[in-house]
Amino acid sequence: MSEKTLPMGHGDFLELAYQLPTPFYLYDEKAIVDNARRFNQLFSWAPGFRNYFAVKACPNPTILKLLEKEGFGCDCSSLPELLLSKASGITGERIMFTSNDTPEEEFRAAYELGAIINLDDITHIETLENAIGTVPETICFRYNPGKNRTGNAIIGNPVEAKYGLTDDQIVEGYRIMQDKGVKHFGLHTMVASNELDGSYIVETARMLFDLAVRIKKETGATIEFIDMGGGIGIPYRPDQDAMDLQMVSDGMKALYDEIIVPSGLDPLQIVFECGRVITGPYGYLVSKVLHVTKKYKDYVGIDASMADLMRPALYGAYHHITVVGKEKNFHDHLYDVTGSLCENNDKFAIDRELPKVERGDVLVIHDAGAHGHSMGFNYNAKLRSGEYLLMGDGSVKMIRRAQTYDDYVATLRFEGALVEV
Ligand SMILES: *Cc1c(COP(=O)(O)O)cnc(C)c1O
Repeated sequence: MSEKTLPMGHGDFLELAYQLPTPFYLYDEKAIVDNARRFNQLFSWAPGFRNYFAVKACPNPTILKLLEKEGFGCDCSSLPELLLSKASGITGERIMFTSNDTPEEEFRAAYELGAIINLDDITHIETLENAIGTVPETICFRYNPGKNRTGNAIIGNPVEAKYGLTDDQIVEGYRIMQDKGVKHFGLHTMVASNELDGSYIVETARMLFDLAVRIKKETGATIEFIDMGGGIGIPYRPDQDAMDLQMVSDGMKALYDEIIVPSGLDPLQIVFECGRVITGPYGYLVSKVLHVTKKYKDYVGIDASMADLMRPALYGAYHHITVVGKEKNFHDHLYDVTGSLCENNDKFAIDRELPKVERGDVLVIHDAGAHGHSMGFNYNAKLRSGEYLLMGDGSVKMIRRAQTYDDYVATLRFEGALVEV
């Protein structure tokens, strides 16, 4: 079970929702920091442990900076993500550049920042060399196990995945890079997304540990770090349990002692690229009810839309919804909760049991702290919502203002006037 609570009392929450322009995102600073510390603590046995927070999960420098203070790095996959990282004080080996289908200029920027470059593809060896005119001292390769591993339900079958070097290519990759003079090597994979079963993560560690030993045997190259990728899930539904991370840590430690220590690869650094499990549960999308109506079904229309949070429409993902102040009321109504896009899949929930909802009620959509705001878009000329941080001292700070019409039209080149005066 995972309890869906609000980070402040009803009264305060309603006041805030009426004071700020809705919809908006609210992140809970203390909860994020405490969670980051817990994550570090869990893996404190692992040499050089670090989580490279996947910037795409929550690309706001205020949040990145909070994590930076906890020793996190950034996992980037584009030039703007690299620049956001840099702006947040994260450079050098605290950046993991795990990109795919990568343009040369992005390799150049990553190299200039001193980032660890994680190659997704065997042809990227040449792209990288063309881009930077040399090879970096450290290189990592992303492994795709193909039919050696079943992917989890969300990321899909590895054979169908566009990512990574195949089992045949991976050893060759290290051989080539050794010949070119690379000194330090890492090994990465990511075969799960939003996974809640910890044993899947432990088995991924086993796969990478075994592969590191095989690479050493076949090429003499010493893998110095293992990058487990992201993909640790969160319990979006109240009846789901969070992943048992203690079990994951213990399981990985046992495998480390069993496989890595005797192989002579100890100390082997272990890193993750988790985004979702770090900020996901501690972000809320706050919205007001614009209308409640009855058609062939009962509808609650809110001022947020899938342009603010795409996951329900994109994946059919469940996001818990609280009607602020009515948590204790009987949940005896069945509603579709919709946004205003001219798209019938613009729904946050279908047939959701909720208390009786009225116009003006404040609806909070939970677990929106990762892959939430960042996936937003401008369809129907919807303007992007603002982001706020609930500070440790109880105050609320704006960390991204809402987009304005002027922002929206700023890139247009148009002879006429865009604004009537
Ligand atoms: C998206 C992504 C992550 C983060 O995934 P989470 O589900 O947020 O943990 C990490 N690494 C890579 C390469 C990714 O694409």
